[in-house]
Amino acid sequence: MEFNELDKVEEEYGIGKGSGDWFNFKDGLNKIRIVTLFEVFAQHWDNTIKKSIACVGKENGCVYCNDMSLEEKKRKPRPQWIGWVIDRTDGELKLLKTGYSVIKQVSELANSDDYKFGKDGLPLYDITVKKSGEGLQTEYSVIADRKDSKLTDIEKEKIESLKHPLQIIVAMKEKSEKGERKEGEIPNAPVFNEESGEITDEEIQGI
Ligand SMILES: [Zn+2]
Repeated sequence: MEFNELDKVEEEYGIGKGSGDWFNFKDGLNKIRIVTLFEVFAQHWDNTIKKSIACVGKENGCVYCNDMSLEEKKRKPRPQWIGWVIDRTDGELKLLKTGYSVIKQVSELANSDDYKFGKDGLPLYDITVKKSGEGLQTEYSVIADRKDSKLTDIEKEKIESLKHPLQIIVAMKEKSEKGERKEGEIPNAPVFNEESGEITDEEIQGI
């Protein structure tokens, strides 16, 4: 790749130009617009390295699912959802990875008469996710905007070029498969530091 051709690579992989970032909920109010459907996958929390690792499935040889030295609770992967949102603080498209609590509240909106979604299965309005508490005590509450708002043409254009969330999940699983888990060592796998709420570059690279 020539460096002056980076924009082609960014376009192909849906990275750069603010679209390669992950969205992290900060304490307090987080205003976002959900712009794609969300896809589910499973991940394990590795307490040794304090990171989450994508599960590739027990039958596919997931090192966590098959590690009988772990307690049953720790062997069990947790569902997570991935999709694209617009971060209303900077207007950029970001990938959101979130758990059941947020997704359940969003789906309640979708199933309500007052807040039902558009024909494309997406909300017609922004939502605000309020994050409070820390660690296992963290709570999320989802509040819908009272008024619908249209996406701009520029936003629509950017959304069309995004990588499908399923492709991102496939890339994450491929990294997990390549990874070997050793005590105290960080596997070559997508990682998410849940304590700091940060996702390292390791996860973004290769997507
Ligand atoms: Zn697993």
